[in-house]
Amino acid sequence: MLEIRDLHVHYGGIHALKGISLDVPKGSVVTLIGANGAGKSSTLRAIAGLLKNKRGHISWKGTDISGKTPVDIVKAGIVMSPEGRRIFAHLTVLENLQLGAYSRSDKAAIAKDMDWVFELFPRLSERRNQKGGTLSGGEQQMLAVARALMSAPELVMLDEPSLGLAPLLVKEVFSIIRMINDRGMTVLLVEQNAYAALKVAHQAYVLETGTITLSGTGESLIADARVREAYLGG
Ligand code: ATP
Repeated sequence: MLEIRDLHVHYGGIHALKGISLDVPKGSVVTLIGANGAGKSSTLRAIAGLLKNKRGHISWKGTDISGKTPVDIVKAGIVMSPEGRRIFAHLTVLENLQLGAYSRSDKAAIAKDMDWVFELFPRLSERRNQKGGTLSGGEQQMLAVARALMSAPELVMLDEPSLGLAPLLVKEVFSIIRMINDRGMTVLLVEQNAYAALKVAHQAYVLETGTITLSGTGESLIADARVREAYLGG
């Protein structure tokens, strides 16, 4: 469904992605693990159309999207929930979610998705009239994911959704990822929490300083001695 071939990204003199290739099949959860600065966020940002200095092929359902704008990419069905808390602090939870659906017009389908999102995130449902900026860090992160889902994407890209969350919430995030996938959405997940990410993933890639060094099923990478040593604490 998504095919990346020989993708390079430069930031000035920094060669952040050095010709990576990866596939995200329809209906799957694919994860990208790697240390800080390996290029995980850059990969998602390149797919989302946010980076100018890139080279290579990004094909989505058979069409090259590497030259498209971020808005066109959302319209094509790919949405990214960025790392950190990029929500609208002065808008309520409900308004933040409505904004996620701005490119859609089918009111009935939007309402249905809103119900589903509130089912996935009961905490957000309870706080629907509260301003985004008054939510806890973890809740804001969940709001960012929920807002991404409101665009009814075919592919949702999650950048470190478990970052900085308490252990209980981390568990919740990974169970939500499964539920999103059960609903038919394809997921491309970037995570530092390598074990949980590999557990949930059908396919996984290890990124090291801009190069993919290993790939396989989530299970096979959990069993791989090199992955255990470098990312799973031996
Ligand atoms: P992290 O989890 O720390 O965000 P990452 O694997 O997502 O790590 P990237 O954020 O993609 O890595 O960064 C890859 C490399 O590109 C790093 O060396 C980083 O310093 C550099 N880089 C990222 N964004 C920029 C930027 N806007 N300007 C200059 N260099 C950048």
